[in-house]
Amino acid sequence: MSQPERFSRVALIGLGLINSSLARVLREKTPETEIVGCARSQATLDTSMALGFVDRVTLDPAEAVAGCDLVVLGTPVGTFAPLAAQIGPHLAAGAILTDVGSVKGAVISALSPHLPAGVHLVPGHPVAGTEHSGPEAGFAELFDGRWCILTPPPHTDARAVERIAALWRMAGMRVERMDVEHHDVVLAITSHLPHLIAYNIVGTVTDLEEETRQEVFKYAAAGFRDFTRIASSDPVMWRDIFLNNRGAVLEMLGRFTEDLSALQRAVRRGDGDYLETLFTRTRAIRRGVIEAKQV
Ligand code: NAP
Repeated sequence: MSQPERFSRVALIGLGLINSSLARVLREKTPETEIVGCARSQATLDTSMALGFVDRVTLDPAEAVAGCDLVVLGTPVGTFAPLAAQIGPHLAAGAILTDVGSVKGAVISALSPHLPAGVHLVPGHPVAGTEHSGPEAGFAELFDGRWCILTPPPHTDARAVERIAALWRMAGMRVERMDVEHHDVVLAITSHLPHLIAYNIVGTVTDLEEETRQEVFKYAAAGFRDFTRIASSDPVMWRDIFLNNRGAVLEMLGRFTEDLSALQRAVRRGDGDYLETLFTRTRAIRRGVIEAKQV
């Protein structure tokens, strides 16, 4: 197959960590691409212009997408349905609509009804991030060596899928295609559940008596510190992820609760063999993650 053609005008709806990082990549790798930025607040638009990764900005999503051959939704997933309703009638024939949302089934349901004929939907999830938000948090190297998962519905135009795959490869990502339900289950266990656990443990601490809480801050060991980092992620983004991946998260939470009960029993009974066997197995998982260069 010949090299997919580059995009000439791209609309980035949302100028936070992910889309502003993608904008920086486009700036570096395809400087001829015109980048139109759109966000909710004038402050974010002004910052993005000052940082120089957009050519022009607007608060109006419909105006942003006009004449674009690529539109990337990079806002919390709960905003996707209303945004799609706004931009749908203004998408150019032949344009590609993609997104960077952390859940995929609910996103496809939210976007599909608003797409005019001749516009290609190629949902995507660059599995890369930090706990920081906003246009200043982005950096071009964010995607380096990470995986991007594409979940195009059956019969999606192959050329459109290849153009989005090429975009993420240009950003340094490895690209994989996945069935949408499978994506949501895999991400529920690898990303969503760990965040839920972090929010829960940090929430438990905030409910402790004032005196104990001060000591928790003072003597915060590495374990708790790591949880506070994860639990400082954007509240709206994570609220929307849990509201939009309920089935898979509840399934994984059920399994987690069963395993936690088994651990609780082992601690109560003083079953050192159980604990040591489990901790040995989990240490091997960590080695696997390091070997896969995902740390
Ligand atoms: P972020 O840094 O919090 O930025 C969100 C952006 O969306 C801001 O520019 C915000 O504008 C804009 N926005 C919010 N509501 C809007 C609306 N109704 N209309 C127009 N713009 C709106 O977000 P992010 O971390 O880049 O995450 C964006 C998406 O990527 C989410 O769907 C998330 O699930 C997904 N994702 C995130 C990560 C991660 O680690 N962060 C990783 C992979 C995928 P203002 O600044 O003006 O409010």
